[in-house]
Amino acid sequence: MQLTNPSEIKRIMDKHGLVFKKKFGQNFLINAAIPERIAEAGAGEYTLEIGPGIGTLTKELALRSKKVVAVEIDAGLIPVLSETLDAFPHVKVIEDDILKVDLKTLVKREFASGRVSVCANLPYYITTPVLMHLLESGVPFASITVLVQKEVADRICAPAGSSDYGAISAVVAYYGRAEKLFRVSAGSFVPAPKVDSTVMKLTLYDHPPVETVSEERLFQIIKSAFGKRRKTLVNALSGDFSHIGRDRIEQIIESSGFDSRVRGEKLSIEDFAYLEREFAKIN
Ligand code: SAM
Repeated sequence: MQLTNPSEIKRIMDKHGLVFKKKFGQNFLINAAIPERIAEAGAGEYTLEIGPGIGTLTKELALRSKKVVAVEIDAGLIPVLSETLDAFPHVKVIEDDILKVDLKTLVKREFASGRVSVCANLPYYITTPVLMHLLESGVPFASITVLVQKEVADRICAPAGSSDYGAISAVVAYYGRAEKLFRVSAGSFVPAPKVDSTVMKLTLYDHPPVETVSEERLFQIIKSAFGKRRKTLVNALSGDFSHIGRDRIEQIIESSGFDSRVRGEKLSIEDFAYLEREFAKIN
C-alpha cells in the first residue's frame, strides 16, 4: 500500500466512508520523501506521534523505532490505521485528543523508562497549544520534530532581536534548542493547505539553560514584555509588576546592560532570567 499516492488515499477514505475533516486540520502527506525525512530526523528508540491520519508518517517511524504510540482524535481513522499498520505490531494507536491526554501517565504506561521522541505533521489549528502541552508536561522528551506552518516555525526559531522573535520564541528557548530543518510546499499535501510549511526540530535540554528562582515568574515576565509590543519594557513591566515600582525596574533593566527604553523583543532567555532573579530579591 502506497499511502502517499492520492488515488490510494481516496480509495481508503471512500472504503471507510470518510472525508477530510477541516476541523481536525486533516492535510495528508502525498510526497513520499517528506515522511521519510521527518522520521529520519526525529524518530527515536521510542516515538510518540500526534495525529497519524492514515498512517503515512507512522509507517516510517515504525521502521526506525522499537515502539511507536500514535494518538489520533478522529474515531473514523482508527479502523483505517488498524489496516494500514497491520504489519507493525510494535505500533499502538490510541483514540484521544492529545490536548486532553495526561502525557506523564501515557509515557510511563507505554514506554516504561525509555526516553521518548515526538514526531508529527501537526494540525495547524492547534500547533502552539500542542507544543506547550508537550513542553509543560514535565516529561523529559528527547526531541520534538514537527511539520508546522512556515510562519510558526519562523517565529519559534527566531533569535532575540529579530522581527519574528516573540514570547513563543523566548519560552521555547527555555526548554530546548529550536532549528528549522526543511521547507515543505503546499503541493505535498491533500487537500493542499493555503500556506507553506516547515519541518522544525526542538532538541530538549536535560536542565534549563538559565537559572531562575521561579519559572512561573519568568514566564509572567516574558508574557508581560510581549503583551504590549509597542511599549518599552519598563512600561510593560511597571504595569504588571507595580509592587516593584517603575524606578527599581528601570535600574534592573539598566544593570542588565540595556538602555531603559529597550523593548522586550531585544531580550534573550538569559536576559529574561536575569530580570527574574533580580525581581525575586524584591518579592
Ligand atoms: N500524519 C498524517 C500525515 O502526515 O499525512 C496526518 C496529518 S494531519 C495534518 C493531522 C492529523 O492530526 C489528522 O489525522 C487529525 O485527525 C489529527 N488531529 C487533529 N487534532 C488532533 C488532536 N487534538 N489530537 C490528536 N490528533 C489530532
